[in-house]
Amino acid sequence: MKDTASGRPGTRAGFDTLSLYDEQTECSADLSDNTNLWGIPPAAENALRSLSAASARGYPSTYTPALKRALAGYTNVDPSMIVTGCGSDDVLDSAIRAYGNPGSRLACCEPTFTMIPVLARVNGVTPVLVQFDESWDIPVDALLSTGSEIIYICSPNNPTATPASMERIEAIAESFRGLVIVDAAYEEYSAASLTPLAAKYPNLLVTRTMSKVFGMAGLRIGYGIGNPALVREIEKSRGPYKVSSVAEAASLAALAEDLPWMSQVVTDTLANRAKLVSALVSLGYHTLPSDANFVLLPVAGAAGVAQRLLSQGIAVRVFADLPRIGDALRITIGPWQMMQSFVDAFERAIT
Ligand SMILES: *Cc1c(COP(=O)(O)O)cnc(C)c1O
Repeated sequence: MKDTASGRPGTRAGFDTLSLYDEQTECSADLSDNTNLWGIPPAAENALRSLSAASARGYPSTYTPALKRALAGYTNVDPSMIVTGCGSDDVLDSAIRAYGNPGSRLACCEPTFTMIPVLARVNGVTPVLVQFDESWDIPVDALLSTGSEIIYICSPNNPTATPASMERIEAIAESFRGLVIVDAAYEEYSAASLTPLAAKYPNLLVTRTMSKVFGMAGLRIGYGIGNPALVREIEKSRGPYKVSSVAEAASLAALAEDLPWMSQVVTDTLANRAKLVSALVSLGYHTLPSDANFVLLPVAGAAGVAQRLLSQGIAVRVFADLPRIGDALRITIGPWQMMQSFVDAFERAIT
């Protein structure tokens, strides 16, 4: 599901979307949802085109064994360590349901992925928000002392784009008895790979997705990687038939043939991110240090700026009054032409 942000996750229901971004909005560059802006990968596109309408008649597989094998190959783990879902949101939801009871707590840093407080609450679990430290790393003691059953760590974190350090994630996994969720939705872009932690700690689940770097968010495919006993519990609470046969076919094609394409997208994204950051610096604006395919740009009056960007055909995500940041825009990195349009529009929007 799309993260529908407009304010502090802990202080709002989390369901409210800025009407700026409703589906009717026409824009030439949609830099608002962190999906790959180079498009759907070529082999996945071919797979979709070659499917006949009749292939939608039957049920998909109950628990996607073929997709698990392909994802296991891609992430270099055993297939018994994989659970798939209808987007990683579904895996996160199922994990919270499996390891939290009504009345339990889930601890995470603020701000983070806005779906987390929503998914906690729909499962009767109370989100407990703590502050990042000065360098945007996770505060180990503060997270551990919340009395929670689940600790959620997003790295690189949405919306700040900053990573959590491996040492601190491991410090939490070592001393925490509950479930540690490491949301690695942007792992392909990151300097660090967190997936190996799933084999090291039996209480740690890494979640990943085909939505972002693979650009297939509309197909809804996500997955979790963890100890086989852990993923079995999550799969039980997930239930059967959650991944459609269309989504599975496209994912299998992408994982088999589109990895070189995807690496090129990552290379181009990181190059364009560096270019965008320096263009903003020359305008006197500083983003938070990014380890992902988006940047968070503190800017006073972000909602007004976003409105003026939208009137020039550019959509970005607005965050209001974030702790220690204030108002900010989150901007997805895409092909340079889009970034240049953003920079030009931004210059007009702030003057
Ligand atoms: C986009 C995003 C997801 C959701 O991905 P889906 O697989 O599309 O459900 C999960 N976590 C974070 C941090 C995200 O930014």
